Amino acid sequence: MTEGRTVLVTGGAGYIGAHACKVLKAAGFVPVAFDNLNTGWEEAVKFGPFFRGDLMNRADVDAAFAQYRPVAVLHFAALSLVGESMTDPGKYWRVNVMGALNLIEGALAAGCRNFVFSSTCATYGDQDGVLLDEGSVQQPINSYGASKRAIEDMLANFGASHGLNHVIFRYFNVAGCDPDGEIGEQHVPETHLIPLMLDAVAGKRPALTVFGSDYPTRDGTCVRDYVHVMDLVDAHVLGLNWLLDGKGSRAFNLGTGSGFSVREVIEASRAVTNAEVPIIEGARRAGDAVALVSGSARAVEELGWEPKRSTLPQMIRDAWGWSQRPGYRK
Ligand code: UDP
Repeated sequence: MTEGRTVLVTGGAGYIGAHACKVLKAAGFVPVAFDNLNTGWEEAVKFGPFFRGDLMNRADVDAAFAQYRPVAVLHFAALSLVGESMTDPGKYWRVNVMGALNLIEGALAAGCRNFVFSSTCATYGDQDGVLLDEGSVQQPINSYGASKRAIEDMLANFGASHGLNHVIFRYFNVAGCDPDGEIGEQHVPETHLIPLMLDAVAGKRPALTVFGSDYPTRDGTCVRDYVHVMDLVDAHVLGLNWLLDGKGSRAFNLGTGSGFSVREVIEASRAVTNAEVPIIEGARRAGDAVALVSGSARAVEELGWEPKRSTLPQMIRDAWGWSQRPGYRK
């Protein structure tokens, strides 16, 4: 039954990877979560087998392929903090790029040629608030985005040399969580806007610091395009099927086409929580682009992607629901 339906999900114990495992299972796949648990949660692995391993260790990669013989890889595992990538670029180049190289070479050695890769809008850099489509020039302004662009280049090279078929998804800002409450967003330390904002509302933190109020935007704060994690992972199932159907390599943006400022996100939360967000106006964060908004027509038209939950109130409502649960225990 499961022959040809097993897939390796790196970062499967993390926020997006765990949500991907849930929808992959629902779509009839067997998602094997490969994770070193540095930032992931074993409790989040609920939808298939768990393989504890580290992408920096090629032997772990080979062992996972030998044990499970996956038909495809979905590669979520990565360091993903823009701020940290500006102070410690070496870590980003080492872990993200070397980890991906070990995984690609391990996959090819095992005869697995289908690869779904989590890339980012940070590969586009700062482009004056224009809608970014897949043809936009990629000129990252932080080490995180640069490491992801390097992996995109790597995939193109291995595609040409070894027939590695790859779907690249460039995520905009992922938010929300499983509305069933089985899994959610939990980072230590938390750095993302929506969970930090909801913690401030709940009194778990004194306040949310707004990083920069003097950007050239409508209200001075950065603009981002927020996409619900459930919609995002639905696109991954479509991307996986695209590869399994032999449609070849392709890059897709995953965003909604609508940008919201930090202040607009804060405003939207009031309607959901009926409470004020205590805020502190802080300095700009190094590496932040002014505005990142996706032109996402390609995923809709070519993959048949239909975002269902990606409105700001819905994302905040789902995140708020999770924030009121006990969360994972380490
Ligand atoms: N942000 C903020 N305060 C915080 C965290 C984030 O003002 O405590 C801003 C950040 O500068 C960016 C937006 O919120 O403009 C989204 O940041 P996040 O870290 O959630 O995602 P990123 O854009 O880095 O992927």
